[in-house]
Amino acid sequence: MSAPKKTVLVTGGSRGIGAAIARIASANGWRVAVNYVANAAAAESLVAEIAAIGGDAFAVRGDVGEESDVVAMFAAIDARFGRLDALVNNAGIVTPQARLDGMDAGRILRVMRVNVVGSMLCAREAVRRMSTRHGGSGGAIVNVSSIAATLGSPGEYVDYAASKGAIDSFTVGLAREVAAEGIRVNAVRPGIIDTEIHASGGQPGRVAVLRGTVPMQREGKAEEIARAILWLLSDDASYSTGAILNASGGR
Ligand code: NAP
Repeated sequence: MSAPKKTVLVTGGSRGIGAAIARIASANGWRVAVNYVANAAAAESLVAEIAAIGGDAFAVRGDVGEESDVVAMFAAIDARFGRLDALVNNAGIVTPQARLDGMDAGRILRVMRVNVVGSMLCAREAVRRMSTRHGGSGGAIVNVSSIAATLGSPGEYVDYAASKGAIDSFTVGLAREVAAEGIRVNAVRPGIIDTEIHASGGQPGRVAVLRGTVPMQREGKAEEIARAILWLLSDDASYSTGAILNASGGR
């Protein structure tokens, strides 16, 4: 009998970097739970695309910043796959450019709730399933940070940059907390990647404007981030935990 296929949850897996992760994970033999929050059509279309080439994926709605949604999402994965081997905390948002002196608490809390609290809640549910302390067989978590964590994003969105700085600290802390329980926790810091996030943050032309500031003189593709993440999820990265990998073209 062949070993059961490993399963991964990709939060925000319906579009952008998350969709690239889901596609490549499936091509590498993973069963994939594709999380989304609003765009069911994009999630279902990706799931159909994966099924058409022989993969096994399903779409699961849930706002990662809502604890009840996160608990329900993991229960849906338990019911569908019966196991969990990996989590990619990819769901994340930016809000329109502003200086700190123009931000209100609602905006800052929204960014922190999705980017930080959401990642921590999803990691909690994954640890409860994967940790040998809880009877699991181990696993891997990759958090999607941003090179903004090192740049601070002054005049653009220091709230977003700070949320990703929190993700970096969380990665190191959780990695050490569960290292002896079979779980590796790492992060990737993308630079400027061509996805719809810039338009949702009110800057549809951001990639073209900033391209020239990247040492490599180009934006990255979602697939270039996805491949770094898939490596960290794989057994090829078996001795890496608490690592934070820049995938930012030198930025
Ligand atoms: P994107 O194209 O805007 O896609 C965002 C994805 O996250 C969508 O699938 C969206 O679902 C989902 N999502 C948003 N809020 C959610 C929530 N509350 N709960 C669950 N899912 C939610 O974004 P992206 O550019 O691929 O970014 C992915 C990650 O990379 C983010 O963490 C981002 O901060 C990070 N990153 C991106 C860049 C870049 O230049 N693109 C650079 C550095 C870091 P729906 O389809 O339902 O809306």
